[in-house]
Parts: sequence; structure tokens; C-alpha cells
Amino acid sequence: MSNKLSKNFKKSEFKCRDGTKVPERLMENLEELVENLQIIRDFIGVPMHIISGYRTPSYNKKIGGSTKSQHMKAKAADIVVKTLSPAALRDIINHLIEEGKIKKGGVGLYRKFVHYDVRGRNTRWYGKGMKDYKGENV
Ligand SMILES: [Zn+2]
Repeated sequence: MSNKLSKNFKKSEFKCRDGTKVPERLMENLEELVENLQIIRDFIGVPMHIISGYRTPSYNKKIGGSTKSQHMKAKAADIVVKTLSPAALRDIINHLIEEGKIKKGGVGLYRKFVHYDVRGRNTRWYGKGMKDYKGENV
């Protein structure tokens, strides 16, 4: 099978950081996620780096992820765009959701990345320390 999922994304970018590939039974979820990520990618016009995609339950536990993490369903990605602050990227994602261009889901703002998932209903949160952080990058 091809490694390519869309114009700008490859399957290997989403494998668990412990090296586990996205299981076949979760490919439909991953395809839906990538479909939406590609819309974000096309909108911003610059590369997006996936710092965390799929996570095995054991890896998720190891790094202290939520017990219901969408990463374990291959429905979530933590994203970095070098030329955008996480807050600016978060605003773009929220804008695209509001416009109905991408699927509703979870959007979490962290110091160095933005989490987006395609759970189908909107939920918003701040990573540790973000809520009170009013620095220039926010
Ligand atoms: Zn995440």
C-alpha cells in the first residue's frame, strides 16, 4: 500500500513515536483526520509538522496522555507550523471550523503546538500553563 495519504501527508508521519504503525482498523479515522488537515494545510500554504499522531494505549499512558485521548483512535494530531505561533494556528483552525470548512472537534492550545482532532463536537482547552500566559507568542 502507498505511504501517501493526501497531497502533503504521508502515513508514516502519523505512526506512534514508539514506532508502531497506525493499525489497519483505524485507517478510516486517519483518512478523515488527514482530509481535514489537508484543508488546513491548503489554507495556510506552508508545511505542517505532525509532532504526535497515532498513539498506542501504552505509549499514551507512558507520556501521560488523557485516558480517552483521540490520538489512540488516530483521530488527532499535534501540529507545529514554523512560521506561525501556536495561537495563530489555533485561530486559523477555529476559523475553518466556524466556516464549516473542516470537521468540528477538539482544539487544544499548548506552548509549542496545537492539538486538533475530529471527534465531531467542539471542545477547547489550554495546555499546562497556557491559560494565564500572555506572552507575545500567544
Ligand atoms: Zn494531542
